[in-house]
Amino acid sequence: MDVLFVASEMAPFSKTGGLGDVAGALPKALAARGDRVIAVSPRYSVVPEATDSGLTASIWLYGRLHRCRLFVLDRDGVRWVLVDNACYHREGIYGDSTGAYDDNLFRYALLCRVAIEVAETLPALDGKRLERPVFHANDWHTGLLPVYLAATYKQEGRLHGSRVVLGLHNLGHQGTARRAAFEGLGLPRAAWPLVDMHGHLNPLKAGIVASDAMVAVSPTYSRQIQVDQGFGLEGVLRERNDRLIGIVNGIGPEWDPATDTHLPATYTADDLTGKAACKAELQRSLGLPVRDVPVFGMVSRLDHQKGVDLVEAIAPWLLSNDVQLVMLGSGSERYERFFRQSERRWPRQARGYVGFSEPLAHLVEAGSDVFLMPSRFEPCGLNQLYSMRYGAVPVVHATGGLADTVTTASPGRDDATGWAFRPHSVEAFQAAVGYALLTLTRYPEAFARIRENGMRSDWSWDRSAARYQAVYRAVQG
Ligand code: ADP
Repeated sequence: MDVLFVASEMAPFSKTGGLGDVAGALPKALAARGDRVIAVSPRYSVVPEATDSGLTASIWLYGRLHRCRLFVLDRDGVRWVLVDNACYHREGIYGDSTGAYDDNLFRYALLCRVAIEVAETLPALDGKRLERPVFHANDWHTGLLPVYLAATYKQEGRLHGSRVVLGLHNLGHQGTARRAAFEGLGLPRAAWPLVDMHGHLNPLKAGIVASDAMVAVSPTYSRQIQVDQGFGLEGVLRERNDRLIGIVNGIGPEWDPATDTHLPATYTADDLTGKAACKAELQRSLGLPVRDVPVFGMVSRLDHQKGVDLVEAIAPWLLSNDVQLVMLGSGSERYERFFRQSERRWPRQARGYVGFSEPLAHLVEAGSDVFLMPSRFEPCGLNQLYSMRYGAVPVVHATGGLADTVTTASPGRDDATGWAFRPHSVEAFQAAVGYALLTLTRYPEAFARIRENGMRSDWSWDRSAARYQAVYRAVQG
């Protein structure tokens, strides 16, 4: 298949969360399985290895012509295209400390348009253009892509055989804008009903109704968004549920404790010696006493979604035990305050590192025994997958992809990989964390079994990529 993958963030070039990880990994996995893949994202900052192709795309939007230069990097069988325009050169990706940028609709409409032009003008790695490409768009940022394709390009007889698959990573962000913003997008008036949601312009809704198929990032999430987790789009999704499936994300090769270059020592399920060294380094680097003590870890965007309030609620109980708690995250002021306060209140037991640090995220996974992920909702979740692979047994809320990936421990079963609790309450969370702590301290062999099951689970991208290819084939007919 010929695939043009387009996303607002793409690791390692740009990343705020799981979307960036997926967009950096899935194109490679598709290419490894034989697809011809071009992956397009904005050039937010200089990527030294990417070279100026000399090609430009000039797009008319909001009353002006916007010239974008196309930077190209050929790696891992994929042609990565970074779209350069002044509107992407900012302090943050989507916003700064004062909130989201108010021209995001324009910034990502521009990305959609350029991605379509790329499919027509830029050859793939083998020097040939993509034929009848499947555009793989992701989330609201590229929700307008199928609308542009249907309402303008295909009307002009261009890219006739192309199709669009929309990845749904998080229904909580829809890119909603005032109706007046429709004017400058360059879409015909007849396209308004596609983007209209209760009188507002809603790019995610547009993507849902205009794409040929949708893939939510886990089977459970694909059902939940039709019932009560669609942030108002439940009905729209139900109407198109014959075109919606769920595929769980995979783990990229950079998340492997056997080869991880961020760690002071590597390790495998067969030999955990290196994990002890990672724990010691985690403790040392954060100024905690270096001891063989249960370490509970968390790495998260600090957003209401992530249930950090539950961690805050159980912290006094948890830290009344002889354990350490290490948290890494950034986002909402309220939870950053909790992080700082916890360090003052439990200076020998708790660390709340405020910031975004890729190396520390790896070290927390490697140095922890138990990983906390009490998200209110979680489309797929990557950290629980990483934590299983790194031998940090996850305690998760049984929702979305967390429910699909963590097999909860219960008496008599020997395939458990962690603890999944429900409902989303302090009591249920504390009970699950209590079981994890009890098992770790009193039944170390049972804990070791759970840890080993998680480390040996197969969450390779190859498996998921095969499922995506089946979707592409289905839409191409
Ligand atoms: P989401 O996409 O909702 O943020 P996921 O669990 O799917 O949640 O993915 C989160 C990704 O972002 C993981 O790779 C995680 O390590 C990373 N991440 C989140 N917060 C931080 C942080 N403060 N520092 C480093 N990495 C982070």
